Amino acid sequence: MENLFLAKGTDFEEGMWFEITGQEAQHISRVLRKKAGDYIFVSNGEGIRAHCEIVEIQKSSVVVKILSQQGRGVPKKKKVLAIGAIKKKDRLEFAIEKAVELGATEICVFEADRSERSRSNEQRLQLVIESAFKQSARFWLPGLVMKSSLDDVYMHYPEAEKFMAHEETELTSRTKELNAPVNLLLVGPEGGFSPREVELHQSIKGKMVSLGANRLRAETAVAAILSQFLFSD
Ligand code: SAH
Repeated sequence: MENLFLAKGTDFEEGMWFEITGQEAQHISRVLRKKAGDYIFVSNGEGIRAHCEIVEIQKSSVVVKILSQQGRGVPKKKKVLAIGAIKKKDRLEFAIEKAVELGATEICVFEADRSERSRSNEQRLQLVIESAFKQSARFWLPGLVMKSSLDDVYMHYPEAEKFMAHEETELTSRTKELNAPVNLLLVGPEGGFSPREVELHQSIKGKMVSLGANRLRAETAVAAILSQFLFSD
């Protein structure tokens, strides 16, 4: 498929012209050296992708015309991947990239009890999400939510069915599929969840999930837990 670009929140209408600006416009005109008459796909990140024709390349914007559009609408089930902040920046970014590729509808990064206090750079993580969204040609751009504790995560998703991936859970507790409209999939930082966090989770009737007998890195656990629900949209 040709390149996919992002015009967040744009309402597409066939025949409509609109302007792509900023980084995306630079990428189209300077990097890819697209010309008027070329075709590109543009997504609004909210389930709609438009097939467009470039009408005009301007200095800092690209004018396109919508030829057709296809939609996948809003995901029926929300899969929120919540991960305890990992100290190593590249590993956290890798985890977030896999979460986008594997269908998380929202990503929450929280300061777990055992997270090393390194403030994650929200803007940088947002760029990782947008680039993985385009590369994987998704229709739904996952939102990014930053929270300062697991307690705050639970308060942010009060209605969610909560699954905590924990390496000491018996192997039989494999989650089969997601049934609730909002599902919170929790992965701890390198040092794992603290006993306090496990008790908190259990006190709110959260489920414990095993990801097999081996001890996975946090970023691997993100891929493992989401892979179980690839087809439960
Ligand atoms: N406490 C261990 C593991 C931490 S791994 C340690 O100190 O190394 C980081 C996270 O990955 C864990 O908090 C858990 O959410 C997840 N994880 C790793 N292996 C897992 C497994 N076999 N089953 C379920 N979750 C696992």
